[in-house]
Amino acid sequence: MTSAKIIDGKAFAATIRARVSDHVTRLREEHDLTPGLAVVLVGEDPASQVYVRMKGKQTLEVGMASFEHRLDASTSQEDLLALVHQLNADPKVHGILVQLPLPDHVDSNTVINAIAPEKDVDGFHISNAGLLATGQNAMVPCTPLGSLMMLRDQLGSLSGLDAVVVGRSNIVGKPMAQLLLGESCTVTIAHSRTKNLAEVVRRADIVVAAVGRRKMIPGDWIKPGATVIDVGINRIPNGDKTRLVGDVDFDSAVQVAGAITPVPGGVGPMTIACLLANTVTACCRIHGLRPPEGLTA
Ligand code: NDP
Repeated sequence: MTSAKIIDGKAFAATIRARVSDHVTRLREEHDLTPGLAVVLVGEDPASQVYVRMKGKQTLEVGMASFEHRLDASTSQEDLLALVHQLNADPKVHGILVQLPLPDHVDSNTVINAIAPEKDVDGFHISNAGLLATGQNAMVPCTPLGSLMMLRDQLGSLSGLDAVVVGRSNIVGKPMAQLLLGESCTVTIAHSRTKNLAEVVRRADIVVAAVGRRKMIPGDWIKPGATVIDVGINRIPNGDKTRLVGDVDFDSAVQVAGAITPVPGGVGPMTIACLLANTVTACCRIHGLRPPEGLTA
């Protein structure tokens, strides 16, 4: 049996960040513009705190301005909306990200849909979902965008390939399926009610797993030579630490697939790199400039 190519998301993300950084320099030198990303964190969710810290650090590393707003878990929806409106109006801010999940007393959809669509660098606003679904210039959600970049890099043209997306969430599964359709794949979206999931996955040249169930896709579900993008992040207790595993059983799938992303070190690093790419894209579009090639869908 052969072993699949392991797609190095960490290295790929570094190349994306380098391109973002180059473009940030150009925007500063040629247009006196510094792209700015505002991240809003409500409450003290430990995973969210780690993500927000990483986002802030990487934003500064590529030369962009970073604005962090940490609010108490008891912050009212009204106060949160007031902050979003203030950021919408701030010319130094080109991207706004409200870290999810939000506390139960806040309606996430109301908050996300209050973000100015052109600054919605997470791509979750209904206008951006609609633009993506109709094949127009959208802000594309970061995880699917990063997954698409890796697929294009691996396969070149995706036209005519059979793709299965396992998971139908608004933040990963659905936009991923839209992107693959945009690449002229024949797309199947599977979910918890799908019958014969093994058979559905076995037909696919491209498998994107975005479920949140550890190792649920074994190697014998994978078509030989298929490209496997494992979005899942599942935390397994490991002594006093946690270990991360994906939705795909990597050890068996790597024997069958043509290429596969590991967890960690696959899709995860691409997500933040694409957030930075989206912020540059947003800055360019807001100022009527052409976004950099290769950093959008
Ligand atoms: P959601 O919980 O919102 O969605 C999970 C999807 O999986 C649902 O559509 C659900 O179906 C489907 N599902 C659940 N059980 C099964 C099953 N047995 N068979 C087939 N489908 C099933 O998760 P997200 O989309 O937000 O995230 C998915 C995974 O990706 C998580 O592990 C998350 O941590 C990870 N993630 C990783 C990111 C990264 O940067 N790498 C970023 C975002 C997410 P149904 O709709 O029928 O309930």
